[in-house]
Amino acid sequence: MTAIPSTPETWPEATPTTGPDAVGLHAPVLAWFEQNARDLPWRRPEAGAWGVMVSEFMLQQTPVGRVLPVYEQWLARWPRPADLAADAPGEAVRAWGRLGYPRRALRLHGAAVAITERHGGDVPSDHAQLLALPGIGEYTAAAVASFAYGQRHAVLDTNVRRVFARSVTGVQYPPNATTAAERKLARALLPDDERTAARWAAASMELGALVCTARNEDCARCPIARQCAWWLAGKPAHDGPARRGQTYAGTDRQVRGRLLAVLRDAVTPVEQAALDAVWHDPVQRARALDGLVADGLVEPLDGGRYRLPAG
Ligand code: SF4
Repeated sequence: MTAIPSTPETWPEATPTTGPDAVGLHAPVLAWFEQNARDLPWRRPEAGAWGVMVSEFMLQQTPVGRVLPVYEQWLARWPRPADLAADAPGEAVRAWGRLGYPRRALRLHGAAVAITERHGGDVPSDHAQLLALPGIGEYTAAAVASFAYGQRHAVLDTNVRRVFARSVTGVQYPPNATTAAERKLARALLPDDERTAARWAAASMELGALVCTARNEDCARCPIARQCAWWLAGKPAHDGPARRGQTYAGTDRQVRGRLLAVLRDAVTPVEQAALDAVWHDPVQRARALDGLVADGLVEPLDGGRYRLPAG
């Protein structure tokens, strides 16, 4: 029997033969998903490809519970890409609210403009055309093609990577950044049939979100526990590189968040003094504000005033 590697550095050029066979994983995960999939608005038929795309932008670094209200408001206000494209990018940043990582709002606005200009306002179904849109990376293109159009693509988000790391490779956590070996493994695990592959992408992601979670995996409820390499090995502790932390307090991200909150709440341009009041350290404050301007999230005006980008 193939030895199960204990660290991400020894991650093998994995194929289904290095762990449980792919087909053996498909049936229980798909059956579990049938029973346990959450009824989320972007999974309903009426969401369409635009709804799926918006949700994927929002969900990349933000939990479902925080995304739900913003998603609903966003789709009510901008039901089609052309509606968002016709508005100023600053309105996208304002509506993004407190989802965090607000550059995503600008990227989504940029994608909406490109969809309107290049594709007549319809989110393209072709993977290469999706990938060619500004602000859309490998993950989002695969997710939209798979979830909106039922195509066969490996969709590797943090949840899926964790499920594969544990169940197939036998380690607690995947590497910090996605590796070629993970992509190869994900492709090898894809069901042949297009519809089943799209379902598998959603199901394996949901298993990672609800059962095989980062800290409190619920193996007793897991449909693939008896095939899971990490579980079968006695759940050895992570001994790879330190995992990236999620520190927020005191970081430039926190300062940026406070500065943006002032600008989001303002209906007219904001004076420097109003921004100075949000953070005690002038050096860090200036650095955060410079970063927001450089990222196109804030527009400096004459007279030391600032606003969200107008266009
Ligand atoms: S058995 Fe536990 S560790 Fe393995 S896939 Fe299921 S929840 Fe994750």
